[in-house]
Amino acid sequence: MLELIDVGTQSIDAYAASAGAEVVEELRALAEPLRGVRVLHLNATPYGGGVAEILRSKIPLLRDLGLAADWRIICGDEAFFTVTKKIHNGLQGAPYPLTPEEKEIYQAHSKHNAEQFERHYDVIVVHDPQPLALLHFHGRNSARWIWRCHIDTSEPNLEVWDFLLPYLEGYDAAVFTLGSFVPPRFPAMRVDVIPPAIDPVSPKNLDLDPHLARRVLEWIGVEVDKPLITQVSRFDPWKDPLGVIEGYKMIKSEVPDLQLALVGSMALDDPEAWDIYRQIREAANADPGIHVYTNLTGVGNLEVNAFQRLSDVIVQKSIREGFGLVVSEALWKGTPVVAGQVGGIPLQMPKGIGGFLVKTIEEYAERTLWLLRHPEEGKALAELGRERVRKRFLLTRLIADELRLYRDLLSGEPL
Ligand code: UDP
Repeated sequence: MLELIDVGTQSIDAYAASAGAEVVEELRALAEPLRGVRVLHLNATPYGGGVAEILRSKIPLLRDLGLAADWRIICGDEAFFTVTKKIHNGLQGAPYPLTPEEKEIYQAHSKHNAEQFERHYDVIVVHDPQPLALLHFHGRNSARWIWRCHIDTSEPNLEVWDFLLPYLEGYDAAVFTLGSFVPPRFPAMRVDVIPPAIDPVSPKNLDLDPHLARRVLEWIGVEVDKPLITQVSRFDPWKDPLGVIEGYKMIKSEVPDLQLALVGSMALDDPEAWDIYRQIREAANADPGIHVYTNLTGVGNLEVNAFQRLSDVIVQKSIREGFGLVVSEALWKGTPVVAGQVGGIPLQMPKGIGGFLVKTIEEYAERTLWLLRHPEEGKALAELGRERVRKRFLLTRLIADELRLYRDLLSGEPL
């Protein structure tokens, strides 16, 4: 059997305060006809990165709404995850083709995972490219199969894309974060555009007492009375951590006591992260103002919450980005953001809302410096961002969109 991931419990009522009682009522009504429907979410890692973040919050709520929801992960070794990270990079446009050996590794692991897959479900949601080929090797059954793509696939490396295309056969629907992400020659099937969302009552996002937040950051070595900018991201070249350091150095010439925190998670399916971590360490070059933290050194949800709350500016200098949950997470906490104008980021903070969108390191340094010098204006921008998140990027909206999709796919046919 594929590994079942343990999650907690949560009541949908807990969302009335942030999302509104009418939103909760609407969700209940949408879920009522789906009571008892067996839904599986399948991905590659139980922690690190946006997909795991969303599933950990979503599964308990689906259960509370009466669906029989499970979360399972596929298994793989380092060789497999090195290939799937290359596929991920290829889908975001990296120019490296897959070798015949790499294709074989992907196929062999997919076949092995398909053999482990026994349980019956009514709806199977497959996240990202790592488990994509499972349907092909398992064979279609009576379930409705959905491919949920979280990455920016608008300009994929066509060699990598062509390799994956046959594995989409048999899927009933695909879901992308933006309409512009639907790749070329996409097979005819139902395509929905559903942006991700954050969980306002998870430990990462719920209100944190300011004294506790300060203590949490002091405890790990941040000087909380000095200016602080932070990027919270997997250590991934698309998140441009080295660019973040370069920009920090520019700002530091104007703000000598500036601190930069790079908070990065080491996901199970991201072997590239260690290499990037080493590069970051080298670029930081023992600058005492640069703090580098990982989940492996104990920086978890509480610490990320404190960073997103207490930083003067949150940076997300991505070069490519599916959505960038971290942007909504920061805005929800009233912290202004300076972020790359890519992928799903402008959807969260269009011009004049939340902070500034930037294209270059210089621009990022300039805008961040401005926000450090104009905290009141920064707070006002963030407040607009928070209201946008409340309306569009809370988990309740995401679940409603997905329930509509399940309902449509299941309608009219016996399970
Ligand atoms: N995250 C975390 N610790 C880290 C780095 C990231 O908890 O050290 C979380 C972050 O708060 C967010 C998710 O991982 O919830 C990253 O999602 P995002 O959509 O920003 O990027 P992805 O990793 O999916 O590309």
